[in-house]
Amino acid sequence: MSVERLQNYVGGEWIDSTSKTTGQVHNPATGELIGECPFSTKDELDHAVAVAKEAFDGWRRTPVEDRIQPLFRLKALLDENAKELAAILTREHGKTLSEALGSVQRGIQMVEAATGAPSLMMGQSLEDISRGIDCQSVRQPVGVFTCIAPFNFPAMVPLWFFPFAVACGNTFVCKPSEQVPFSQKFMWELVHEAGFPPGVLNLVNGAHDVVNGMIENPDIEGISFVGSTPIAEYVYSKASAKLKRVQALGGAKNYIFLMADADMDFALDSITESAMGCAGERCLAASVVLCIGGNKDEVREGLLKRMQALVVGDGSKPGVHLGPVISAEHKERVLAKIQRGIDEGGELVLDGRNPDVPGDGYFVGPTLFDNVKEGMSIAQEEIFGPVLCLMEVDTLEEGLAIAKRQPLANANSIFTTSGRAARQFGYEVPASMAGINIGVAAPMSFFSFGGAKQSFFGDLKAHGREAFDFYTDRKVLISRW
Ligand code: NAD
Repeated sequence: MSVERLQNYVGGEWIDSTSKTTGQVHNPATGELIGECPFSTKDELDHAVAVAKEAFDGWRRTPVEDRIQPLFRLKALLDENAKELAAILTREHGKTLSEALGSVQRGIQMVEAATGAPSLMMGQSLEDISRGIDCQSVRQPVGVFTCIAPFNFPAMVPLWFFPFAVACGNTFVCKPSEQVPFSQKFMWELVHEAGFPPGVLNLVNGAHDVVNGMIENPDIEGISFVGSTPIAEYVYSKASAKLKRVQALGGAKNYIFLMADADMDFALDSITESAMGCAGERCLAASVVLCIGGNKDEVREGLLKRMQALVVGDGSKPGVHLGPVISAEHKERVLAKIQRGIDEGGELVLDGRNPDVPGDGYFVGPTLFDNVKEGMSIAQEEIFGPVLCLMEVDTLEEGLAIAKRQPLANANSIFTTSGRAARQFGYEVPASMAGINIGVAAPMSFFSFGGAKQSFFGDLKAHGREAFDFYTDRKVLISRW
């Protein structure tokens, strides 16, 4: 049976990669082979970068008001085609259709925010900084930027970057995850229809060679990476040593603080959604619940009841809450981490290792651990599956001390009705995306996104106003006439 082989989009045209190496793309709900992703070569990447560099001068001289017009058209096209994009996403990734659509809508908001460039790119000016001398600072685009995307939000993550980059007058090369390249194929068809000039937006499919090529290519000014912590650190350290701008968003281990005074039903609903949504493959997923002040029995019983009620299955089917994990290999990794949790003394309250789902999909059911202790691997390492751990502490201070000792600090949330506890949490918690009575503390497009410690390498985070700092140089003009 022949399967579709993906193409690259360079200079406004779809072109075949000559690479002999490819990755297989499967529908994780069925195991069916749905495509072949070429692992483009370094030369193919270099060609795309040269095309983007060539397009830069004309694009940066295009007035910002004209630059945002194709973004408005892209936003309209994404609105019109959101359901089709969500269905493509579910087929290659596995998350449910409503989760897929939610992530597409989040992505569309990025395009909306980027169209604010005429205001958000403005500089500052001051007359008479000295007698007869005026000073003005302007933001100028820098050149070619790229992004390297993870598998878990196939449509949304590149939208964190390219709309802002091109609105500022830069040109761009995107590398999707080789595990889920179809969403970006569809996205770039819409990009083409939106009418960006050739070379402004380019797509190169591939894996490690493209990433290493981006690090090496001297014509790339900046790289945005999203993925696991070891690769985030690798890309950050190598590419910044090549004097590029780099923002590298890494992995997560998100602690949720559940106070005894919380609105318990609301909190348990939110935590279940946060931990089990997208099969736990979210960098903002709840991973460990710190039960604070003697509420653990109630929490355990409430979560168990909610998690047992979730329907596991093909995310494209109605009534399914929990789709598969991304691949057979990833399922094995999740199962190994569950086994390690058992070996280390965690109490497996709900065992999702063999969910009753027909077919050859890569399913892991809802899994709940109790009696988890700080030193255990399931308390410290990212699992990236539908696995939730319960830990008991006496006070908020004790919980904060545990969270501060964790190397990963992407997102933390607290559930409480106490203003004092909420304030102390917000003030002290180490993660830089923090929720108060919010299960998934995801910043909107006009705020910035990114964690702390080993969850983020760099200084300027994704989207929001910080995008306009990442994608521009601030030039100061001092003039006397
Ligand atoms: P990953 O690190 O395996 O891959 C990310 C990208 O890096 C892919 O495009 C891949 O081709 C490339 N890559 C992988 N290994 C490489 C290597 N050895 N050399 C060069 N390039 C390499 O991540 P993933 O499994 O696709 O995504 C899941 C991870 O992403 C999780 O850790 C999750 O927490 C993280 N994530 C973080 C955020 C955030 O905002 N912090 C958002 C989404 C996902």
